[in-house]
Amino acid sequence: MIVAKPILSIVHEVKHTPNRVALDDIELIAQNASEMLVNVRESMLAPHPAKHSPVFTTSQIASLCRIDRKKVNYYWERPELGLPQGTVLPRTREFTLSEAREWVKKVGPFNKRPKGAKGKKIAIGNFKGGVSKTTTAMTLAQGLTLLGRRVLLLDLDPQASLTALCGILADSEVTENQTILPLIYGEETSLQYAIQPSYWDGIDLIPGSAALFGAEFFLPFQQQKSRGFRFWEVLNNGLEPLLDDYDMIIIDTPPALSYVTINAFMAADGLIVPTPPNALDYASSTQFWSLFTDFARSMKQIVPDLDKHFDFIHVLLTKVDSSQSATFAVREWINRTYEHHVLPIEIPTTTVTSSASAEFGTVYDISKYDGSNKTYLRAREAYDRFAEMIDQEIYALWTWSAEGGAAA
Ligand code: ADP
Ligand code: MG
Repeated sequence: MIVAKPILSIVHEVKHTPNRVALDDIELIAQNASEMLVNVRESMLAPHPAKHSPVFTTSQIASLCRIDRKKVNYYWERPELGLPQGTVLPRTREFTLSEAREWVKKVGPFNKRPKGAKGKKIAIGNFKGGVSKTTTAMTLAQGLTLLGRRVLLLDLDPQASLTALCGILADSEVTENQTILPLIYGEETSLQYAIQPSYWDGIDLIPGSAALFGAEFFLPFQQQKSRGFRFWEVLNNGLEPLLDDYDMIIIDTPPALSYVTINAFMAADGLIVPTPPNALDYASSTQFWSLFTDFARSMKQIVPDLDKHFDFIHVLLTKVDSSQSATFAVREWINRTYEHHVLPIEIPTTTVTSSASAEFGTVYDISKYDGSNKTYLRAREAYDRFAEMIDQEIYALWTWSAEGGAAA
């Protein structure tokens, strides 16, 4: 086990000017922090070195497939259907995530992506940090896979929290070449090279890393240097070849209107803006929309014939704490401001999410929750309904374009 050097010793060496830290010292702090994180992660995930997806009971299979338990037994007794049999344990039966997803795809009442319909790209954005963007990206992906979908997660935040939620530490386990950077630098034309499988069946990941900051220098530089370069189209072009392989591509963005965020928004078919109903987050969400407007205006100036539209823009109320008296009022402001863009589903604040997140997980990562089952179910139901709603909306868009809607 690596033991990180105590950070305090750095401060103590500077006797007379205790608050001064030279730039060189920062490197030492960074090194300590990343070593510590590796240790902390290992102890959190102990006894397993890597993340594992949850297991499912027969009742959970029934609920995922929208059938009753008797029907599960009925299907299960017919080997000709080729449904996974699970593992027999004393008095019960257990299914892996991949077995559960096979059940869902074979006997669940879900609609397949129509032939020829392309995967939809959904960006999660808000220029404020801590509003639940990354949690929303991960839970949406997990919820969609439990509806039988195949999802690609794209982590565009140099902080790489989504990558961490996938059980990968960006600092020590991701090289620059595994991120979107080779695409940004023009060394690759398709993002295929960066896709890696994750611990969660049905979710693939393109990881993020601190090196993503490089894009913020390169894209404006290239825009100035090369005539005809369109910095805002790089990501979309790289995703295009992947759209047949995935039902949904979910893009987590950094909390800033960066060049990379612009690429995400320009590529996205749908935009989801997580907004907690408290006064400060509401205030910064208004800034998000005004900055977004400025950006849209300047894009129109650069490219007057730009034909960009979103299939949907949703405001999702997140971290909703109904016990706070302000919540009610701010929820009203949000509804009045964003009107039909506000989704009729809200994600409650849950200790389940915050405690699971400390272990790099979400509500979906829990096989058996030890705390109050009611709290868990409330959060789980909200996330399930959210994923279902997005799924239905995307299915409607697929059928609409198949009927010629997109050409109209
Ligand atoms: P962002 O990506 O916008 O910065 P995160 O998804 O990383 O936001 O969430 C910020 C913090 O809030 C994390 O610690 C996360 O676990 C916590 N969080 C997110 N959603 C919830 C929720 N519904 N209930 C409680 N805590 C939450
Ligand atoms: Mg984030």
